Amino acid sequence: MKKITILPGDGIGKEVTAEGRKVLEKIAATFGHQFEFNEALIGHDAILATGNALPDKTLSILKNADAILFGAVGHPHYDNDPSLKVRPEQGLLKMRKELGLYANLRPIKLFDELLEASSIKPEILKGADILFFRELTGDVYFGERGRKDNDNTAFDVMIYSRYEIERIAHKAFTAAKNRKCHVTSVDKANVLESSRLWRAVVQEVSQDYPEVKLTHMFVDTAAMKLIQSPRSFDVVLTGNLFGDILTDEASQIAGSMGMLASASIGDSVGLYEPIHGSAHDITGKGIANPLASILSAALMLDISFNMKEEAQSIIDAVSQTLKEGFRTIDIANNKTAKDKILSTEEMGDRIAQGIGIRETTPTN
Ligand code: NAD
Repeated sequence: MKKITILPGDGIGKEVTAEGRKVLEKIAATFGHQFEFNEALIGHDAILATGNALPDKTLSILKNADAILFGAVGHPHYDNDPSLKVRPEQGLLKMRKELGLYANLRPIKLFDELLEASSIKPEILKGADILFFRELTGDVYFGERGRKDNDNTAFDVMIYSRYEIERIAHKAFTAAKNRKCHVTSVDKANVLESSRLWRAVVQEVSQDYPEVKLTHMFVDTAAMKLIQSPRSFDVVLTGNLFGDILTDEASQIAGSMGMLASASIGDSVGLYEPIHGSAHDITGKGIANPLASILSAALMLDISFNMKEEAQSIIDAVSQTLKEGFRTIDIANNKTAKDKILSTEEMGDRIAQGIGIRETTPTN
């Protein structure tokens, strides 16, 4: 029995996690597993109900879970008023800190069927397969911050400790051993002291992995090379701020924000979530792409439960569905997918139907 907590959160978070759960239920039925699901509050809904973006009740449920499927948090109310002190994203940051989730893994791999949907040329993109390791609990997001000079000067301290760098570096090098044995560590060591420590510690850790090639790269160069030659990367290791920006850039390699899954791991429970936010502009329209949430569920099966075959069956179902020309609107390509636009729920249904079936016949 595996206890899975669903944290739908806000906006399209609710819509896409419903489809992720649907697919996990199909996996349980197909492969004979027992998954016990429960749901808890986070974000705007949690603030409305309790005044707190991550209520204590939610935290204790999470600490007892075997894995967490998270949607997204965020609401226009807060986006339009930066002065509000209690904010949905505090729930997310606190959850990462409390659960010790220090490594965010973001696989960037384009399904061949979506080559045309990317804004990058197919010949540059085909075959790109990158695994990002973004550090999650340090950097400017957690350093001292404040205002001085009568509010006319603001500061956010970029801070990293040796142990924070070591533990994620070990995870990245270990993953690289099972891939193409190449880690690119991204920093800004020509300017920033925290990056100089980052670079020195990563260099030290690399000594334990002689089979893995290590490249150091400045973040500005990395931003350029990701678009220019995405195939030159295997594992990318970077800090919280640079990782935040680079992974959104790299989402263009995968065609859409709606396709990218992520895993946040530490030394206990794993959290699985799409990289996109609550997308107020499309909330309630039934058009959100649920594939990032569904692929996050596949990562959960792979990483937290070591259910490799089950995880692969989800990826196969996604691939087959795309091959048959079915799309949500964000990844639609009118030349090949005309008249095969699916709603969020329909896409979830198709993937669930495809679980355990390797080759299906197109139905229209
Ligand atoms: P966003 O990721 O929500 O949306 C960016 C764009 O991508 C929008 O046009 C949206 O419609 C589109 N998009 C995103 N996911 C999609 C999907 N599954 N299917 C189809 N289209 C999709 O980012 P944003 O607009 O900058 O932020 C909206 C809110 O989300 C804000 O309140 C922000 O704070 C929050 N946010 C939360 C998280 C999180 O919870 N992890 C991450 C990023 C942003």
